[in-house]
Amino acid sequence: MSARPIDPPATLGVLGGGQLGMYFVQAARDMGYRTAVLDPDPNAPASRDADLVIAAGFDDPHGLDRLAQECAVVTAEFENPPATSLVHLSRSTLVRPGAHAFAIAQDRRAEKTFLAERGLPTVGFAVVNVREDMERVSPPESGAILKTARLGYDGKGQIRLAPGCRAHDLIDAWQALGAVPCVLEEMVPLDREISVIVANSLHNETATYPVTENVHVDGILDTSTAPYTGPEQRLAVEFGVRIARDLDYVGVLGVEMFVSNGRLLVNEIAPRPHNSGHWTLDAARTSQFAQHVLMVCGHAPAPPEMTVPSVAMVNLLGDLWQKDGSAHDFAAMERMSGSRLHLYGKDDPLPRRKMGHLTVTADDVSTALLALSPWRRRQ
Ligand code: ADP
Ligand code: MG
Repeated sequence: MSARPIDPPATLGVLGGGQLGMYFVQAARDMGYRTAVLDPDPNAPASRDADLVIAAGFDDPHGLDRLAQECAVVTAEFENPPATSLVHLSRSTLVRPGAHAFAIAQDRRAEKTFLAERGLPTVGFAVVNVREDMERVSPPESGAILKTARLGYDGKGQIRLAPGCRAHDLIDAWQALGAVPCVLEEMVPLDREISVIVANSLHNETATYPVTENVHVDGILDTSTAPYTGPEQRLAVEFGVRIARDLDYVGVLGVEMFVSNGRLLVNEIAPRPHNSGHWTLDAARTSQFAQHVLMVCGHAPAPPEMTVPSVAMVNLLGDLWQKDGSAHDFAAMERMSGSRLHLYGKDDPLPRRKMGHLTVTADDVSTALLALSPWRRRQ
């Protein structure tokens, strides 16, 4: 592993061309780097700003070879690049964060086991690989969530089971998910959800952003607000840093947590900048994307502090576009004091698809959140 920092105008590569890739590319470009994006869709959001677009599948060896040839380092903007592709790339270029972090984050069995083995609190869970595993577990009294081990996101690949569900309901749910490996989680009451964005450098220098509070609706993030100053804040940061260090992580990492009956539980790890950190684009000295560029290039973290007292963000989903015209009245969004509208330039406003987000800064979190009410999915 090269210890010398990668400086502009080197080319940085990213697997995946969604909005997270787009912000990475923009941050890199603003620092003077060249960028390359590999995505099957040549019109993906990140492609517009990239110097090189490789339209190829994530497992296409020719596309990967081209990316490796061009780039001093490659990262990914989503948690599911094929493990074989990361290994392939690692033979001829740097891959940051490393394949190990992706392997853990992209499989809920490995993720939950990793956390539990390090003594980090999680919800009660059981690994279900085959039918007999499911037959052995007794349905949790509080209800349960069955989640596919791989490829789930934004609440996809999950089935919720109400309290009092029976053994055969569990089997039916597992079959409805395709009888693939799963994790069965106990459903816990949520006092709130919070997340921590951690940057960890090649030399284990760490920066953490102020803790963010998140509201999910139907498994998709609706709003994020920062700073969260509740009593779990310090422990949340400590958990985030421990996870980054234990993974030998190089890059920006998002850690989702639950506060349940006053206990802090780690929910999941995203090996990349995270939707709940989008507010850093408008309200922090260094955005999470610029920070990720610094990390993958082997630099030390830059200051993560907020530049305003409070900030709130709402995700704008395609559903808004399906409603009457006022639902996505961009002018009204822009008119609000302290607001900033971000659109990702996607053509097709499908329901549940993230089309953009809106940020508002204010003197306190509740004022910022109130300003976003017209666009929230739950008030
Ligand atoms: P995804 O990968 O789709 O984000 P998550 O595990 O984060 O999957 O689940 C999405 C959301 O569903 C969470 O943010 C939370 O609101 C809710 N949720 C998930 N697991 C549990 C659980 N065990 N108990 C209560 N709520 C949960
Ligand atoms: Mg999640």
